[in-house]
Amino acid sequence: MKRILDTKVKKQGSEHSTLISLNDILIGEGYFTVIAGPCALESEELAVETAKAVEHAGAKVFRCSLFKPRTSPYSYQGFGLDGVKLLKLLHAESNLLLETEILSTDHLEVLAGEADILRVGSRNMDNYELLKAVGRTNKPIILKRNMSATLEEFLLAAEYILSVGNEKVILCERGIRTFENYTRNTLDILAVPALKELSHLPVIVDPSHSTGKSSLVPAASKAALAAGADGLIIEVHPNPRDSYSDGEQSLDIPTFEKLMKELSDIATLLGKKSFQQVLH
Ligand code: PEP
Ligand code: MN
Repeated sequence: MKRILDTKVKKQGSEHSTLISLNDILIGEGYFTVIAGPCALESEELAVETAKAVEHAGAKVFRCSLFKPRTSPYSYQGFGLDGVKLLKLLHAESNLLLETEILSTDHLEVLAGEADILRVGSRNMDNYELLKAVGRTNKPIILKRNMSATLEEFLLAAEYILSVGNEKVILCERGIRTFENYTRNTLDILAVPALKELSHLPVIVDPSHSTGKSSLVPAASKAALAAGADGLIIEVHPNPRDSYSDGEQSLDIPTFEKLMKELSDIATLLGKKSFQQVLH
């Protein structure tokens, strides 16, 4: 880890941790923040229905992907910029903060204008021009680990954002590629405590893309909380079977509600200061 010695991402002492404050939400050490929503927004009605359900269950941030990086160009690509009006509607209809994936610097102005948090996905972890561009905004940025990145490479990608002035970076472990193919990726659970001992930045986990199976999402979520994660980003859909993308890893509403209760109990045991962020 020689290359992170003189970086801004590096932890300077055991008490050094960055807490990101957004409205009344705190993201970072001691808190647990759940981001939930569909893989991609599909329709106005479904977006509002899902937002209300996840808010009721205790999520504080809504996952609102408008741009989808799909393996096949013929798979559903998302609303694109046409969906920005949906972000306005969701702001009007709920108290949730909104987070969305950014794929290109071309969309930065519009997305940063409407979303509260921007997400740089796994495939763009190494897109250094995009990292610098989001680094010039004052928005919190969720940076997902590339599926083949070492922790050092991940932290140096985060450094691109900090290096140009934006210190509000949330690291997201989303599973790595290994020989195992029962799960979509392999959740590198020890990345959570390892990143937290190397860096002061908040760390969250994506139990959906790391497992690829809704049956494994609750276990991955609880493991993440127990391993010290500061939050989760979970795919939730009212009818996962009808989802345009990633239905097999999306939780339905009752399963999400049950999981939130369990997370709340574990957060209490762990002495998290704001487990009410999990269950209101
Ligand atoms: C996503 O969160 O929508 C996504 C595409 O995940 P990842 O970038 O981790 O593959
Ligand atoms: Mn997805």
